[in-house]
Amino acid sequence: MNGLDGPARRRPRTQTRPRTGLRSRRGTHSSGTRAAAGIRSLVAVLALAAVASGCAGGGAGRTTRPAPGQQPEKAAPPVVAPARALYGYAARLRAAHQARVAAAGRWGLRKVPLTPPAPPAHKPEITTRKGFEVDDHEELGLPPVFTRVPTEDRVVFLTIDDGAEKDPAFLRMMSELKIPYTAFLSDYLIKDDYGYFKEMQDRGAALNNHTLHHPYLPALSYARQKHEICGMQEVIRERYGTRPALFRPPFGNYDQDTLRAAKSCGVRYAPLWDEEVFVDHWEYREGDRDLHPGDIVLSHFRGRGEWKGTMPDLVRRFLDKVTAKGYAVARLEDYL
Ligand SMILES: [Zn+2]
Repeated sequence: MNGLDGPARRRPRTQTRPRTGLRSRRGTHSSGTRAAAGIRSLVAVLALAAVASGCAGGGAGRTTRPAPGQQPEKAAPPVVAPARALYGYAARLRAAHQARVAAAGRWGLRKVPLTPPAPPAHKPEITTRKGFEVDDHEELGLPPVFTRVPTEDRVVFLTIDDGAEKDPAFLRMMSELKIPYTAFLSDYLIKDDYGYFKEMQDRGAALNNHTLHHPYLPALSYARQKHEICGMQEVIRERYGTRPALFRPPFGNYDQDTLRAAKSCGVRYAPLWDEEVFVDHWEYREGDRDLHPGDIVLSHFRGRGEWKGTMPDLVRRFLDKVTAKGYAVARLEDYL
């Protein structure tokens, strides 16, 4: 872990923040105008619908008989309005896809990343992986330790640890490609630039707990473990406004004290990982050396200082494999 404390790259201040909430900031006075415009469009659509049904019906004066289960014609407006909404939705989807295609080209991806399905309505039940339990794990209600989320969705989850490298290009890349990820942060690596991770949070990433100083926890007393874990909960709450529900023990090493300490300060899950991706290779926990639905993938905030590439190089390696294998990247928190 040497050399992680090196000087952070300066972030250019010219970056623009994502323009969220622009719509909602338009005053309420415009809602009447919008409603009027809506009604005008609706009238226009109804007129078109009348013309269309006239053609289909084969002439004036003829009433079309509704098909079984269909409403009679006078109930048309409630059907037409959703149809308009659908056209709008389709147009937005098309535009979003085109933006994704363009972003994939800009960032040098082999293929356009797949879009994940909607978050599951019923969250899967997360249990501790066999062989990863501590004594009285369930009896004490300790946070589950797991490497995969039970789901049949063809999705994997990207988690990125530590916080050493603070590359503005990484933030832009993830936003432009709309790839969700979860960060596990250690205070000693992020404290020289809390602002970088604030921007990460603003762009939609969840910031979670990876201890204050990244120690090998099982070597520490309960009190010191609690300081490492609960101290980091407080840093994140103070700096970023939320107390994390997710905690990842450094090196994936933990004992019962670790999970008891984590539980005591609000941690609900302890996700580990099934694969680890580096800038130049992948490592696998499973013997089949393959991805599986719901796999959690680990990587690190590292740059050229330590690895043979940049954060965008790393993301490119990650996405090219995930997409080639037919997986989309989903948000871990959506499944918990
Ligand atoms: Zn770590």
